[in-house]
Amino acid sequence: MRIFDTHSHYDDEAFDDDRDALLGGLLAAEGVEYVVNMGASIEGAAASADLAEKYAGSIAHSDSGNEPARTGVYAGCGIHPDDTGVFEGKETSSGMRFTCADEVMQRLRDLCLLERCVCVGEIGLDYHWMVEQKEVQQRWFREQMRLAYELRLPINVHSRDAAQDTFDLIRENYEEGRYTGGIIHCYSGSLELAREYVKMGYHIGIGGVVTFKNAKVLKRVVGELPLEYLVTETDCPYLSPEPYRGKRNDSRNIRYVIEAIARLKEMDPEECAEILFENARKVYGV
Ligand SMILES: [Zn+2]
Repeated sequence: MRIFDTHSHYDDEAFDDDRDALLGGLLAAEGVEYVVNMGASIEGAAASADLAEKYAGSIAHSDSGNEPARTGVYAGCGIHPDDTGVFEGKETSSGMRFTCADEVMQRLRDLCLLERCVCVGEIGLDYHWMVEQKEVQQRWFREQMRLAYELRLPINVHSRDAAQDTFDLIRENYEEGRYTGGIIHCYSGSLELAREYVKMGYHIGIGGVVTFKNAKVLKRVVGELPLEYLVTETDCPYLSPEPYRGKRNDSRNIRYVIEAIARLKEMDPEECAEILFENARKVYGV
């Protein structure tokens, strides 16, 4: 089964003990050919870029001979809604402070321009924790979508308790002629909104939640949307699927996500996996 993890956080300290073992072979041994590591802050985006540099090039096929299989890592570079204060003069978690928003944007642009960066993400809105005011989150979500358009990169979107506003801002950007394509990560909205995203050409990120018994709406979304618009993800170390719910997640568990999608689509899991894999490659252009 070929696996593409479109949203992960291997720079998280939860992987400090076995990051190299996982990315250097354990994941590939179970079919994980590509992972995209998301940056969520200036430091996170830099860490993502470093990981992508270190693990450039998937050799999961291993047709080159003796070399062991290894997962290819790409980076997403963006500022998560919780961290958008950095654009407004706030200090980052590691104590970096920028003199103006332009300086932050320039730093982010430089990271996004790296060859291994395949999207601007994760960006979006989070009204659950409300670390920054709505206006601040919205302003920098808009600006980062503009950056993505300028660089011709897709976006990877985080949306929590903000489904309608996230959609409205993406549609506004689309209607103003700045379509970027990309993924609505860990989708948790309605079927109606999902259909509207798909109409605009955005993809829907499906992770461990689809295996949860109580995920009725998401199961319906997966059942009803064309498979061509779904992609797989972990958001690891978070959101392990059943039967590992609550444990640390990694990209190998996407197998259970694919099996759940295949059941909802009444398809053969291998065939389903192949389509999901190609969808992700198409979105990120790898
Ligand atoms: Zn994430």
